[in-house]
Amino acid sequence: MIALGIDIGGTRIKAGLVDEQGRVTASSSAPTPDNLSAFRESLVSLVRELLVPVVAFPAPEARQVPGAGAPPAARLAGVGVGCKGILHPATTKVEVLPGTLWFLEGQVLADLAAPALPAGTMVVADNDARVAMAGELAWGAAKGRSEALMLTLGTGVGGAIVAGGKLLRGATGVAGHLGHVTVDPDGPACICGNHGCLETIFSAHAIEAEAFSVAHRGCDSRLTALARQGPAALTCRAVFEAAYDGDAIARGIVDRATRALGAALAGLLLVFDPEIVILGGQITDAGEPLFAALRGELALRTKRMLRREVPIVTPQVAAQAGIIGAAALVKGR
Ligand SMILES: [Zn+2]
Repeated sequence: MIALGIDIGGTRIKAGLVDEQGRVTASSSAPTPDNLSAFRESLVSLVRELLVPVVAFPAPEARQVPGAGAPPAARLAGVGVGCKGILHPATTKVEVLPGTLWFLEGQVLADLAAPALPAGTMVVADNDARVAMAGELAWGAAKGRSEALMLTLGTGVGGAIVAGGKLLRGATGVAGHLGHVTVDPDGPACICGNHGCLETIFSAHAIEAEAFSVAHRGCDSRLTALARQGPAALTCRAVFEAAYDGDAIARGIVDRATRALGAALAGLLLVFDPEIVILGGQITDAGEPLFAALRGELALRTKRMLRREVPIVTPQVAAQAGIIGAAALVKGR
């Protein structure tokens, strides 16, 4: 049995066939169109391309032959789709999706893919952060775990929770938005409408905004020198590098952000008592200095209640994680 995983990203739609061991056996991708009709066309053609070798699409009369064995469609366990926003996992309706993919809001993803699928194919969908966790739960760092947290530290902060061995969705599908835990009640405005969410302080965008502010004030820092090379030079990665190279101002930005992440994570550890925490996303490229600082924060804030160190690990399903995770949604059904 195989599953088809589809990863709808802001720049590309990726799709792949995934076997029962979580291996991608075939994959393809296309640029993400900027309107609904082009999107539907693109999705259908990607799915067709991948399913042709798998599903023979028998003529209607062939399906009725008694004793003919399982129809070819039976090799396809189902289709999983991952997308940003808030999705209804069973109906695959996109409930909330601000940003470049706004035209998908209100759409039922299963209906969009239907022309390319054999009748009766199961289609499930979930948001990209939960999809990443589904992949880790099926074949990665959370395999065999019943309690786990995952945070994706990128331009924003994504999150997902496994509780009692299952992905936590909450009453309305919002559960797991760990980037929107408030860490400063009077902090900066967040895209979600709240103030002082974790991702307004610890995220690539937040850290870069702090660095721009430092450079704008003309502070004596490598960040100011970098800004003179152009805005593209002042990346989150550059801020971390300057900080760990000894630039005091960059260090101040990184330490403040890391403390906020540590404080949020400490609260989450006491709420969920997970066996492990998986930290993914581009900022984890900062490596051991970041992980060591976090472990220090967590030990200070949680040791009396938890009485143990919760391992912080990186994702094991890394390459093509969006496709593999989406396929894992099918396995989890
Ligand atoms: Zn927020």
